[in-house]
Amino acid sequence: MSDSPKEKLSCPFEKIYPSQLEKNDLFHMKLAYNQAIDAWNHGEVPVGAVVVKDEVVIAAARNQTENASDPTAHAEIIAITQACRTIGDWRLNDARLYVTKEPCPMCAGAILSARVGFVAFGAPDPAMGGLGGAIDVNAMPKANHRAEVVSGLMEQECLALVQGFFRAARSEKNNPSTASS
Ligand SMILES: [Zn+2]
Repeated sequence: MSDSPKEKLSCPFEKIYPSQLEKNDLFHMKLAYNQAIDAWNHGEVPVGAVVVKDEVVIAAARNQTENASDPTAHAEIIAITQACRTIGDWRLNDARLYVTKEPCPMCAGAILSARVGFVAFGAPDPAMGGLGGAIDVNAMPKANHRAEVVSGLMEQECLALVQGFFRAARSEKNNPSTASS
């Protein structure tokens, strides 16, 4: 254990507070982005998600895999569960989900199972992305639901966040005391 891991792991990126006047896709992605920053500040891979229905945020969640010791505690799964509890229905046809990173196959499966009508994600994930990055769960030909998917919303910001986190984690791990090249 180093002396001040919390200090070193705190997120250097600033939250973005969107104008309440424009409750559009960008507005909601900014809320998801702020959830991702909260994830980083809790030592988690920075991914955040919000679910919106009738322009009301009905769920907001961050990745909690490490703290919950639960590989299924992804932001999207937690947000979907919250959203369903909020409206008392497992069907989210009319809801819109915003997430900072492309959902993995597990989360993409949950999105289809919950029949989420619309998904926007920020950073693509060529390694584990389940909505076209690595595979496309949304394209299963016989699935009884398909979500409308928009990619690349705040892509640069969301990608910088994830890459910055792993860079910080690596340098922390490799060498907590001396500077690397
Ligand atoms: Zn996931």
